[in-house]
Amino acid sequence: MFNTNHDLHSHSFLSSCSNNPLMTTQAILDYAEQNGYDLVAVTDHLWDASVPGASGWYQPQDIAHISRSLPLPKSDKVKFLFGCETEYCGGEKLGLSKENFDLFDIVIIPTDHFWMPNFVNPPELSTTAEFYALQIERFEELSRLDIPWRKVGLAHPHIYVPDGVDDPEFEKVYSELEDRAFEIYKKLAALGCGMEINCDLFAKDGKLPWLTKIFKVMKEAGCKFFCCSDAHGPESLDLVKKYGPRAAEQIGLTAEDRWTPVGF
Ligand SMILES: [Zn+2]
Ligand SMILES: [Zn+2]
Repeated sequence: MFNTNHDLHSHSFLSSCSNNPLMTTQAILDYAEQNGYDLVAVTDHLWDASVPGASGWYQPQDIAHISRSLPLPKSDKVKFLFGCETEYCGGEKLGLSKENFDLFDIVIIPTDHFWMPNFVNPPELSTTAEFYALQIERFEELSRLDIPWRKVGLAHPHIYVPDGVDDPEFEKVYSELEDRAFEIYKKLAALGCGMEINCDLFAKDGKLPWLTKIFKVMKEAGCKFFCCSDAHGPESLDLVKKYGPRAAEQIGLTAEDRWTPVGF
């Protein structure tokens, strides 16, 4: 069976979008310990100051800022990883320099923070199908970067799925891109990165058919998977417990499908 007792993407109060004083690294670790997890990570939002071109929002969230979590609290039962969620803006612009990957146990890379127009995406995109097509293109670009892929987890690799199955525009775009998607998943699998299961998505019944279909294609392409809550406050830490098993069952994951970053 696929073990869902882990959470490799969560935010402490150091992330500007959390800013919740209760969301400490100790709270993240305590939850993991109480729930029998074997692996947990804190991955605050990050833009490395050595990479030019931070947005105003990212600028204060540099390595010095998120390193205030260090040293992480320890536990005998759970391994606690120091990570970050950086940003990919297209055009090979990644918010973490290759040299500084060494500072982290795990690096979460999102390709689809498409709520940041003019920074992450062109402002004129609006439909789910357009966003999905851009996400596939971003995977292709990203896969050409020379980075330590074995510690990279791709964040929410499937956010852009419709709320229901009957979206003719998405259906059309999806079938046009299906082969390209399979090829890029194969390449990413070979590079050794992990595909994230952002468990909250599996709470939404309407999204399930598309999510399941897309994740099954990833699995068929050889990808490995990890679960996360992407919690920004303590109240969301239980998302993996709530929906992780459902996700694993829908996709048909087995023990061999689990991804962990290199060294863990
Ligand atoms: Zn994200
Ligand atoms: Zn996040």
